[in-house]
Order: sequence, then C-alpha cells, then structure tokens
Amino acid sequence: MAVKNLSILGSTGSIGVSTLEIVAAHPDRFRVVAMTAGYNLELFLEQVKMFRPEVVAVVAAGDAETLRQVLGSEAPEILSGVEGLVACAGHPDVEMAVSAIVGAAGLVPTMAAIETGKDIALANKETLVTAGSLVMDAVRAAGVKLYPVDSEHSAIFQSLEGHREKDVRRLILTASGGPFRDRDPHTFSGITLEDALAHPNWNMGRKITIDSATMMNKGLEVIEAHWLFDLPGDQIDVHIHPQSIVHSMVEYVDGSVIAQLGIPDMKTPIAYALSYPERLPLDLPPLDLCKLGELTFREPDPQRFPCLDLAYRALAAGGSAPAALNAANEIAVGAFLDNRINFVDIPELIGKTLDKHEVINLGNIEEVLQVDRWAREETSNNLKSCT
Ligand code: NAD
Ligand code: MG
Repeated sequence: MAVKNLSILGSTGSIGVSTLEIVAAHPDRFRVVAMTAGYNLELFLEQVKMFRPEVVAVVAAGDAETLRQVLGSEAPEILSGVEGLVACAGHPDVEMAVSAIVGAAGLVPTMAAIETGKDIALANKETLVTAGSLVMDAVRAAGVKLYPVDSEHSAIFQSLEGHREKDVRRLILTASGGPFRDRDPHTFSGITLEDALAHPNWNMGRKITIDSATMMNKGLEVIEAHWLFDLPGDQIDVHIHPQSIVHSMVEYVDGSVIAQLGIPDMKTPIAYALSYPERLPLDLPPLDLCKLGELTFREPDPQRFPCLDLAYRALAAGGSAPAALNAANEIAVGAFLDNRINFVDIPELIGKTLDKHEVINLGNIEEVLQVDRWAREETSNNLKSCT
C-alpha cells in the first residue's frame, strides 16, 4: 500500500489528536504534509516537531512568528490566517485533507481542499450544515471522495455498502442524549457549565460537548446526513441510545435494519475514512456485548431538547436557514462557554434568529459567509436580553 499524504486541518483538537495517533501507529501508510491549528500553540509545536510537515498554518500572525523563532532552522514553511489554512488545505503534495476545525471556520479551507482535488475525511459537520448544496456540487465537480468521520455518518456509510440507494426507507441516527437525558427539565435553568461539559460517553472538544448536551449536535447531524446521503428530513430519524454502541442504522424497504456497532471511540470512524476501503488494525478494547448486557433505545423528547426541532425546521426551510441556525448556535454556545448566558437561553436565542432570518438560496460561498455574519451579529445583539 502506498503512503497517503495528509493535510490535518485542526490538528490540536480532539479529532486532530486522534488522527495523529492513528498516523503515528501507521507510519508506513500516512505522512503529514500539512497541518493547521487555531490557538493551542504549545501542543501544535510538539506536533510539528514530531510529524515534521512541509507547511503549517496558525490563525494569528503573531503565533506564526513565535513558531518561526522557536523552531529556528528546523522550521517548516509557516503561514497564518485564512490564506494560510487554505494553502495548507490545497498544498500540491496533499492527497487527502482531514477537515477537523470546529465550526463554520472550517468551511473555506475545506472548500479549498475540494477545489484543488483532495479527498476529504470530514469531521467538520458545520461545512455541510452551512453550505451543503455548494459543497456537494464542488465534490462532484472536482471528482473527489468525501468520507464521513462523524461516527453516525460513518455507521450509515458502512450500513449502505453493498446495498441499493433506492431500497433505503429511512436513516436512524443514534444519540447518547448527553448528560441531561434523564434530568428533570424543570431544573434546566440551573444547569452549570461544568454539568454541561460532563459528557457521559464521548471525550470531545468543548463546542461539540455543549452541542451534545442541547442535542443541537444531533440536529446538525440530521442536516449533515441529508447532504451526505441525499434523503429528506422526514426520512431521517433520531433514537436516543444511552450506551453509544450502535452508531447508527439504515432501514430498508423490506424492513431489514443494518447497523454498525463498536465501542465509542472516534479512532474507528477516523481510521475508516483515512484508509477506506481497507480496515486498519487499531489498538482498542473489543466490544463486549455480553458484558454490556443490554442496549436500549427511546424517542427524544422535543420539550427537553428544543434544539433538535430547530434543526429540523431549518432543514425544511432550506436555502440559507441551516447556515443561520449554525451561526446562531455558535454564538449562543460561545456565550454559554463564557458563562454569559444560561443553558436554556441557547435554544431561545437560536429560535429568535431563525424567526428573523429571511431565507435566500445560496449561490456561492461568499453568500454563505454573509448569512453567517448576519446571524452572528443578530444573535450577539440578542445576548443582551439574556440575564
Ligand atoms: P476541538 O475544539 O477539540 O478542536 C478544533 C480544532 O480547530 C483545534 O485544532 C483548534 O485549534 C482549531 N480551530 C478552532 N477555531 C479555529 C479557527 N477559527 N480557525 C482555524 N482553526 C480553528 O474540536 P473537535 O471536538 O476536535 O471537533 C472538530 C470538528 O469535528 C467539529 O466540527 C466537530 O463537530 C466534529 N466532530 C468531533 C467529534 C469529536 O469526538 N470530537 C466527533 C464528531 C464530529
Ligand atoms: Mg456524531
């Protein structure tokens, strides 16, 4: 097997670090040509020293300067800003870009990778939520492959293999339900940041951990599934499955349901996206169903998780609505992470922005970014009304 040249966009995040662990365990299969990070310079420095990419990018020009000074003669090419991220995504030697930046900030670099002919391992669901139609058009036009990293979408991708698309009746996304699946909804206004960051099953970045607690994460994943698998919202259902063992399922017209199971560890779907169609041996504990004893499923309660309905609503509205939903969510979650608003303000704020949003058809990425800016400003203005 040939060595695959990778660009890791967001190498210091939860997905980025897991990806690099897989690369380190399989040096005969992968080489890191480019990598980028946001703000975590210390870890990035260690990674650069270990993986020796040809080019790297950080967000701030000052951080790029610090890297140059510290690395001295060992420094790779060091870039900064969105142009730097784009250059890393589209570096001529790169064959596959791992899209693992968090939030809508991942959109422009991911599009750059697609347009320069790179295959994509997509963790950054916000790319598809904000600009799904444009991204899928670009994937087709460039003739590249887009492999899902999100565990649910990887499970669906695997459950679709060898089957005919027209035989699919519906997709069933599973969700852990997060830390508040059993908490009395009347006490939700007392939820602290610490409560919300304590995810029962998965160890992830802060933004997606809050999204899991509100279940907006599942809402974003419904929209992501719509674009990846070309099915309308009413053929994409969500089941709460607290054990996070069945990662998602596909139901066929004959009633058969095909699922993918595994322990909750993102290395499995990351590795499958990196090495498809091959499966890499991974050093993970095996799934022991007998020890687990039981797997349970139930419907999500819309009162408890209003964000899920907001996402279905945005998907049904189409056009720019999901981009507005996503931007409003990023602002609301950021404010919650800064202890500026209450947990229950998050869906309130997003709902307000969606109500005010005038949906347009998205013709290009600049229009997506305009909607994104509008929704951020609108939601930021509404933060003041939260006490
Ligand atoms: P994280 O917060 O741990 O890491 C994000 C990475 O992006 C870091 O390298 C950070 O420095 C970088 N970054 C942040 N803001 C940036 C900006 N403005 N410009 C450039 N780089 C920036 O996030 P994560 O949990 O690894 O998630 C990454 C993506 O993968 C998200 O879209 C998330 O929804 C998705 N995802 C994550 C998991 C998981 O288990 N963590 C599972 C499924 C999907
Ligand atoms: Mg997921």
